[in-house]
Amino acid sequence: MAKTLPKSGTPRDAVMQQLKALHADDAKWKDGRTFSLVYFAGDEVSALLKDAYSEFIAENGLSPVAFPSLRQMECEVVSMAASLLGGDDDVAGTMTSGGTESIMMAIKTAREWGRKVKGLKRPHVIVPASAHPAFDKAMHYFDVDYSHAPLQADFRVDVAAMEALIRPETVLLVGSAPAYPHGVIDDITAIAGLAKSLGLLCHVDACLGGFFLPFARMLGRPVAPFDFAVDGVTSMSADLHKYGYAAKGASVVLYRTGALRRHQFFTYAGWNGGLYASPSFCGTRPGGAIAAAWAVMHHLGEAGYLTRAQSIIDSTKAMQAGIRDIAGLHVLGEPVGGVFAFGSDSLNVYELGDAMDARGWKLDRQMSPPALHVMVTPAHAAVWAQFLTDLAECAKSLAAGEPAPDGSAAMYGMVGSIPDKSQVDDFLGEFLDGLFNRA
Ligand SMILES: *Cc1c(COP(=O)(O)O)cnc(C)c1O
Repeated sequence: MAKTLPKSGTPRDAVMQQLKALHADDAKWKDGRTFSLVYFAGDEVSALLKDAYSEFIAENGLSPVAFPSLRQMECEVVSMAASLLGGDDDVAGTMTSGGTESIMMAIKTAREWGRKVKGLKRPHVIVPASAHPAFDKAMHYFDVDYSHAPLQADFRVDVAAMEALIRPETVLLVGSAPAYPHGVIDDITAIAGLAKSLGLLCHVDACLGGFFLPFARMLGRPVAPFDFAVDGVTSMSADLHKYGYAAKGASVVLYRTGALRRHQFFTYAGWNGGLYASPSFCGTRPGGAIAAAWAVMHHLGEAGYLTRAQSIIDSTKAMQAGIRDIAGLHVLGEPVGGVFAFGSDSLNVYELGDAMDARGWKLDRQMSPPALHVMVTPAHAAVWAQFLTDLAECAKSLAAGEPAPDGSAAMYGMVGSIPDKSQVDDFLGEFLDGLFNRA
């Protein structure tokens, strides 16, 4: 029988015990054996996030009038993010629940701008093929017309191909800094320059790089221009809950001017319930996420972010050198930070992924080209050497013809052989159905 609400309550200690037991089968992110989903900046930061989140766990960011505390913290977080990302005092923004919401808001803003300022019925957007699926989701939710621009051999978007896709309805060109799959930064100077020359908007998705690249640059890493310092960039997304090390549910979306941000807002004056004004997608906005982001930015400061960026840079360098040393493996493109992918001309990388799974390493699988994905955090400083040892051993045994342990290789091989990816969508829908069946 499906689970129902318990008739009577359970004591707090017993509930907490059950909660803790539920962790058992979860990804072991703390020991650095996973490469996405969790950005761990150390126990001390985690404890601060918990305290800050709890302090504002009840407060609701929907009403800045009722909670001036949240309004102040949000404005300060946005301001700190804007100045890190080359913005002047005109740059305006809001916090959101994450990268997806930030991107949705940027797309909705571009659509409204196209309708109201350009008088277009059906505004059109151009997005690199490597851009995060949050863009496809935003187009789907907001019914915006869009095209994917292909990538060059170096995995950056082909700006000439992007230009060729521009039509009279086009309102926005997108670039990533960096793109999730290969960790390379699109040529933002070229994209923004093109957009500006035609009077279009340009969004830079720095969800991943927004709180890493500025520090990598301060540390002397060569980082191509990607932020508001580039003429023509009109909006940016940057995730606090990634390399900003905030609690989950925190990102910023920024605009070159307050006038542009105005298109993001939703207001409704005709409701019986009173005047309604909502800055972003969500209605109720958790105060805890705002407070935790504010807290970690103040606690780490530039110095704290620099230390963590340096750790990531060092681990990444070592990992990439080690991967290049393993026969048959290569790093894709020229990744700029701790996010990168590696592939192989001689081995089945999905089998390699399964072999690594069996040793407790969870690497994400990528397609076209087949690759394994790495996302380095400070948690990996202690384990990259063991990672390389295991990877070399797994690669060697596969090269010797030993069978890989059972895993997802067969499925990825199958999916890779289907040219029409819309057929795979049905399969993914069924997968979700199965996952969320009632308990
Ligand atoms: C993570 C990510 C997103 C989406 O962010 P969520 O917080 O998962 O919604 C968008 N763009 C890039 C480049 C990302 O890495």
